[in-house]
Amino acid sequence: MFIADLHVHSNHSNDGVDCVKALIATAVEKGLNCISITDHNTVNGSLEAIEYVEEEHVPIAVIPGIEVSTSNGHMLAYGIKQDVDKEMSMRETAMAVKKLGGIAVMAHPFQLHRHGVVAFWRVIDVIDAIEVFNAKFCIGLCNRLSEVLAKKYGKPGLAGSDAHCRQAVGYGVTIIEGANPLEAIISGRVRIKGKRIPLNIQLKNLLKTP
Ligand SMILES: [Zn+2]
Ligand SMILES: [Zn+2]
Repeated sequence: MFIADLHVHSNHSNDGVDCVKALIATAVEKGLNCISITDHNTVNGSLEAIEYVEEEHVPIAVIPGIEVSTSNGHMLAYGIKQDVDKEMSMRETAMAVKKLGGIAVMAHPFQLHRHGVVAFWRVIDVIDAIEVFNAKFCIGLCNRLSEVLAKKYGKPGLAGSDAHCRQAVGYGVTIIEGANPLEAIISGRVRIKGKRIPLNIQLKNLLKTP
């Protein structure tokens, strides 16, 4: 079983504060045994995490990940170790991710001020899962609506902290049942738990975060 934070930004993102090592140390301290570093439009944070964990024998699994800026909003991709171009449509991005053997996840739909997805019906058929709990500040019922969307289309719902600093790691947690986390996600063997990142922590990088 994996206790995972699937949405974490390092300083490989222009708006991330902490280095990969600090984020991983915090994740382990908080009892997580799985993490995905999902920097904006680069897998470099993930690659660094994989190398670091292997070399230092840190007891945490790293799922390679990236948060891609598509022309329809942000998309999380897991299981790929190379970048895909930004600013393609979400459909094109999802297809590119799948071609590389990864899975495509709609990130924080309905958070329109943060590049959420608007026309979800155009892409839902190529999406493997939906982030239904995002621990960052959210206006209105964004997470609730995301959950409704996932249920309506029968998509697995994931949680992530969307941490941009180490203090925010672990606020959005996905519990993944199975030895292969990507397979387990696709087949819906996931549970989520989370709580909103406290405002004082969010304020830490509010000015930097899009
Ligand atoms: Zn995002
Ligand atoms: Zn993010």
